[in-house]
Formats: sequence, C-alpha cells, structure tokens
Amino acid sequence: MRKKIVAGNWKMNMDLAEGLRFAELIDQYFKDKSMVKAEVVLCTPFIHLPGLAELLKQGKVAFGAQNCASESSGAYTGEVSAGMLKSTGAQYVIIGHSERRTYYHEDDNMLNKKTVLAINNDLKVIFCCGEILKEREEGSHFIVVKRQLERGLFNLSTEDFEKVVIAYEPVWAIGTGLTATPEQAQEMHKYIRSLVKDRYGIEFAENVSVLYGGSCKPSNAAEIFAKPDVDGGLIGGASLKKEDFCAIVEAI
Ligand code: PEP
Repeated sequence: MRKKIVAGNWKMNMDLAEGLRFAELIDQYFKDKSMVKAEVVLCTPFIHLPGLAELLKQGKVAFGAQNCASESSGAYTGEVSAGMLKSTGAQYVIIGHSERRTYYHEDDNMLNKKTVLAINNDLKVIFCCGEILKEREEGSHFIVVKRQLERGLFNLSTEDFEKVVIAYEPVWAIGTGLTATPEQAQEMHKYIRSLVKDRYGIEFAENVSVLYGGSCKPSNAAEIFAKPDVDGGLIGGASLKKEDFCAIVEAI
C-alpha cells in the first residue's frame, strides 16, 4: 500500500527559536497519537535543519528542506547542496515548488538536475507540479503537468523514482484561499498516476504517493484526502498553525 504523507512547507517563516519551538509542539502532539495514518514531514528553512535533527531524533516526525542547489559543490555563493542537506540529517527536500519556478526562474532542466542530486544523496524528493490559472482556463493543464513530469522526473531509473513523492499544486490555489475541488484534484491525480504507469508500469504507479497542495485547511482536507488517488497533502499557510496542521494530518 502506498504511503500517506502530510508535509508542511513553512516557506520563509519563523526564526531559529520560533521554528524549533513550533516543531517541538508538533512532535509532542504526534508522539502520543498511535492512530495517525500519515507520515508527518516538516519542510523548513535551512537554518532549522541541524536543530530539528536533534529535536526529532526519537519522534515520528520527519523533516527536510524546501530547495537544494543544482550543482554538487563549488563556487555557487549562497547555495546549499543536497549533500549538505543530507549531512544535517534531513530526509526530504521539496523540488520544483511554483514559487521557485516563478520567482527564481527554475526550469525543468534545472529541477531535473536538483532531483538527481537529491536522490544521489539519499534524500526523498517531494516534486511539485501544477498549472497556472490561465493554463487551466484554456484547458492545457494536463499538457503542462505532463511536460513538467516528463522533463523533471521521467529520465530517472525505477530505483531512483522510488524516492520520489509527487505533489500536485495548482498554482492558482497556492496561498490564494482558492482550493481545487476534490473532483479536480482526483482527476489530475489519476492522470498523474496514469503517466507514471505509462513510464514505469502499473505496479509501480500504484505505489507512488501523490499529494495535493493549494489552500488545504482543516475544513477541506478530509474531503480531498478521501479521493482514491490523493495520498495526502503539501501544506503551506496552514502548516504554521499547530491546531490546523495537526487537524489536517488527522484528516487522513
Ligand atoms: C505550498 O506552499 O506548497 C502551499 C500549498 O501553500 P498553501 O497551503 O498556503 O496554499
């Protein structure tokens, strides 16, 4: 059975002390819960990672970063490599978030390089894809997502692809309060799984986790997560509030 995952994307929020305090609250909450069906992941700014490795050592909560460099080392001022992330104890990295694609002009080729480096450094990749509003309105959303996955992921071997989790995040739903309907999410998730099936085979496709992201909140999570091809969520704004994030995890 494929894994259910709820990952929080803190984006550029919380200083070191705030972040560690918050992660401790989340960790404490889930320590006492034996019934939680999803893996909980906190994707934080780089500065929190070494502290989280210490803090979350005994618990159930996993952690990771929101980006990594597209080169392995060298004169790339300000960058953090996949190997460096791994050295902190991080288990996950988000790659291809729409904010990185838009504000930092990260293209499919660069995202594929990052993905390969992350996997080579034994990190699990949460690979984001999704269309902008105009693309949905003109009906090209399936073509866009197909292209992002083909160029970003489909040169990976089967073995490497096992370390990939796909996050479908319609860009028009991220941080906007607009959410895809459960039917829209299911339709795209099913399509994504069919693309994975065409490339890697049916058994493999059935085991790939596909998360939904975009204004997910306690009030809509259960309905979206109930869809058969939705395996959890990538949560932005609501991952910064303990009650909301925990309620979303428990909606699985
Ligand atoms: C995200 O940043 O991945 C995200 C889904 O954000 P939000 O939940 O705030 O829409």
